[in-house]
Amino acid sequence: MVLPSYLVHVHLMSILVLILFNYTIILMKKLIAFSIFCFALISCGEKQKKEVVELPPAKLKALIIDGQNNHYVWPKTTMMMKGYLEETNLFTVDIHRMDSVWLGIKYNQSRPETYTSFIETYPLTDKTYNISDSPIKISEFAFDFKDYDVIISNLGAESPLWPEKTRSDFESYMANGGGFVVIHAANNAWGEWEEFNKMIGLGAWGGRNEKSGPYVYYNEAGEIVKDSTDGVCGSHGPEYEFQLTTRAPEHPIMKGLPNKWLHTPDELYERMRGPFENATILATAFADVEKNAPPWDPNIKGLGQNVPQLMAINYGKGRVFHSTLGHFDYSMECAGFITTLQRGTEWAATGTVSQEVPEDFPTADSTTSRAWK
Ligand code: ZN
Repeated sequence: MVLPSYLVHVHLMSILVLILFNYTIILMKKLIAFSIFCFALISCGEKQKKEVVELPPAKLKALIIDGQNNHYVWPKTTMMMKGYLEETNLFTVDIHRMDSVWLGIKYNQSRPETYTSFIETYPLTDKTYNISDSPIKISEFAFDFKDYDVIISNLGAESPLWPEKTRSDFESYMANGGGFVVIHAANNAWGEWEEFNKMIGLGAWGGRNEKSGPYVYYNEAGEIVKDSTDGVCGSHGPEYEFQLTTRAPEHPIMKGLPNKWLHTPDELYERMRGPFENATILATAFADVEKNAPPWDPNIKGLGQNVPQLMAINYGKGRVFHSTLGHFDYSMECAGFITTLQRGTEWAATGTVSQEVPEDFPTADSTTSRAWK
């Protein structure tokens, strides 16, 4: 049987309509599925966005080491430095106190506190330690320095040399990018430890002499002089207010600080000697021949030169901030001491400084102190 042609057309049209209808259904299904997928994706993103909690940047880990310092005020100055660093909100600060401690010498006879009052007033409550009435000669100190971004030494003259393994561990820590801060009498320690002397640039006392390296200072022409003249290593006059002169104004620690500023009463360290390698003098003070002559030693006069007080030293990948300032608590209450400690410690830990210069920073002819509670 042969179908009439119009029926053939109708049949073909029906098939075509059916095919188109099926495709439309499939396409719509796909579109709906895609829309659901997109909606789910956006909802999920929104949900995730809502769940993101803004975390504050991780704080730098700092450690103060103390327990043996010829300055009997050290239990208090440790707490002062811990407070100064924590108030920047950049650091968490732990303290490692040696198991056996020596309180040092009561230099300031005029001070009302008794010899033991500082260790009694500023104890570490989670630590027991023996108090020795004379310098401790043997150290069994061992420590994993790698847990910290920066180590601050509040040790001093007569600190017993760390065991060889601990010295080697500390050298590796520093060479691999560690941070180290040396305050005042901490540079009296360990004249015999060659790598320590490289870290601090210049040191004082501690058995050092002309073999330890030259005196380093700025002459009147503003040039750095390395002077290998024979003579003592380390001296200072009576405490007094003295002016610091910035020598590296573009260094991160010094940027924005005034060219000259007056420091509260302190010892003006001079005649320091050392290898002075990879070292930058950040600030100097003038060691007057008469004014900075120690009254207790008629054989020594002031050097009559501008001598380093703040230094930055590179040791391998590590960084060291060295401040000779900080003889007593009132020296550390100076806004200049506090600011340079805070900035120097950040630089030692990271290589940069994010802190603003405070408004109370001392000027060329007036000091500013913050009474520490
Ligand atoms: Zn001192």
